[in-house]
Amino acid sequence: MIKRLKLLSTQFISKVNRTLSLPGQCIACCASFQGRGLCSRCLDALPYNWQRCRQCALPLAFAPAKLVLCGECLKHPPAFDRVITPLRYQFPVNRLISRYKYSHQRALGRPLINVLAHEVSGHLIRSPTLRPDILVPSPMHPAKQRKRGFNQAEDIAEHLSLSIGVPWSVTLVKRQRAGPAQSGLNRQQRLANLREAFEVTGRPPPRIAIIDDVVTTGATARVLAELLKTAGALEVEVWALARTPG
Ligand SMILES: [Zn+2]
Ligand SMILES: [Zn+2]
Repeated sequence: MIKRLKLLSTQFISKVNRTLSLPGQCIACCASFQGRGLCSRCLDALPYNWQRCRQCALPLAFAPAKLVLCGECLKHPPAFDRVITPLRYQFPVNRLISRYKYSHQRALGRPLINVLAHEVSGHLIRSPTLRPDILVPSPMHPAKQRKRGFNQAEDIAEHLSLSIGVPWSVTLVKRQRAGPAQSGLNRQQRLANLREAFEVTGRPPPRIAIIDDVVTTGATARVLAELLKTAGALEVEVWALARTPG
């Protein structure tokens, strides 16, 4: 029975990926439309992250009159300069991302990567001086990457690179340790663990955008930005598909 289910799931995965490679059906509502991925109604209905902290993009429950900082950024100012995450990590974004990452349905990530590419292009038009010199995908430990089959941050970086014409690097920052067990540790201990997990291998260019799929606590982004700035980077942004509420 399990074998049959596995076969069914494999066929479904291949069908989804094939369907998305051709114009046709919306992956969320199944409506027919001229395009790929999400139809315009489903695209408009995505949970966009309009109300957010101006630095870490934490979703805010209220609409501030001007751009504000969240309590965490006020209390512990992060090393990154800003986070760009156009979406909130809630339905259907959470389902799409989890199937993109864990079920090898890589085509399900495409519409969300396109939303991020659109957001980033607007940001670079408004602030051309902030154009990064390089995109750095958040590194995954090689053993984990082998198990999963790919690093989604690299997949996103590759697509963004093609879209905005900025090169990407998988060698500037390496992950030398698998994700340590973080439960039961306090904030300082978690950050210290993460600092030891990454290594900057050379002198970084002045402006960097770290690429990830989801920003959750922001701890990884904080540590990567801190290490890159210590190594000589001047401006570090974080670009991700979605942001969790906390
Ligand atoms: Zn739709
Ligand atoms: Zn914040």
